[in-house]
Amino acid sequence: MRARQLRRAAPIALLASLTLISTPGVAFADPAAATSSQDVRTALVAKQSEQSGEKSLDQQIASAEKALEKAKNQVADAQRKLDNTTSVHDKAKQATAKAQDRLAQARKQLDKAESDQRKAEQRVQKHESAGFSFDGMVDSVLAFLGSDVTDSLGEEVENKREAVSQAENAVGAAERDGTKAKQAKSNAEQAHEQATGRQDEAQSELDKLNERKQAEEAKKQEQAEAAPADGGGAAPAAAPGIVKPAEGTFTSGYGARWGTTHYGVDIANSIGTPIKSAMSGTVISSGPASGFGLWVRVQHDNGLITVYGHIDQSLVAVGQRVEAGQQIATMGNRGQSTGPHLHFEIHENGAKIDPLPWLQAHGITL
Ligand SMILES: [Zn+2]
Repeated sequence: MRARQLRRAAPIALLASLTLISTPGVAFADPAAATSSQDVRTALVAKQSEQSGEKSLDQQIASAEKALEKAKNQVADAQRKLDNTTSVHDKAKQATAKAQDRLAQARKQLDKAESDQRKAEQRVQKHESAGFSFDGMVDSVLAFLGSDVTDSLGEEVENKREAVSQAENAVGAAERDGTKAKQAKSNAEQAHEQATGRQDEAQSELDKLNERKQAEEAKKQEQAEAAPADGGGAAPAAAPGIVKPAEGTFTSGYGARWGTTHYGVDIANSIGTPIKSAMSGTVISSGPASGFGLWVRVQHDNGLITVYGHIDQSLVAVGQRVEAGQQIATMGNRGQSTGPHLHFEIHENGAKIDPLPWLQAHGITL
């Protein structure tokens, strides 16, 4: 316990000296300057990056997050533009179709007007060529009526031709609009694709940095855990807050066994023997588990997870807070088990570590 306190004290001393370095002369003259722990951390990070000559991992992650945020906004902008141009293009297509309909209609009307005109002319010609013999007055009346009818039909044809020409112009204009809208949509599609690509890049960059940070933190934790064994000297007495998970015979250790790896230790005793939580923590599993029959898992306050397998009965529920030494289950013979025993595992940063040396380092022998 004293060693832990000493180790904790060291970084505080370091932080204090950094405060002096980072704000010479004003560190204590101005209480507002660099006195919060956040400021001190920032100063520490700045000092580290100064020394290493590159941006700290945290700074890199912060700027990668900013870049990702920016890329996401650009994707959203591009998406909006793409939606807009798609809608404009759709409308242009509809307008073109409508103009083409109107053109077809106008052409039909022109055809009809032309056909009416032809028929009228043929009727007049028939009268003339049939050699009808009228007297002069009847002749002139017919000629007058005939020319009147053909004149008005000619006007109608002219009107319809004009209408067709206008409809053709309208189709042309609608098609030009459509081409422009199609180009705009295609540009928007390209921009959207590029923005999505940049977002993917930013995301994968951030993922990489976060992985690196996790790895570095796991390494730091490992070093911190290893430190007591290095500096401890004599075997420590049973550490407070850590208890033997069950009484019984140590029957199997961690490592290769029967062509596979045994990721825990086995403690054999009779069915119903109390199984205790090795440390205080929170129950994260309680119930059936493949291979283990029934199990309990506890997440401890120091980040470790312990696993209790092949149990006969669980006495706890997920989410329940348990103390070190509190009975959480009874020993059983469920799952892939050849006799009543507790299978006990310790997980550290996702890795299943050998519980035997860990327990020994904390004064517990199996
Ligand atoms: Zn086992």
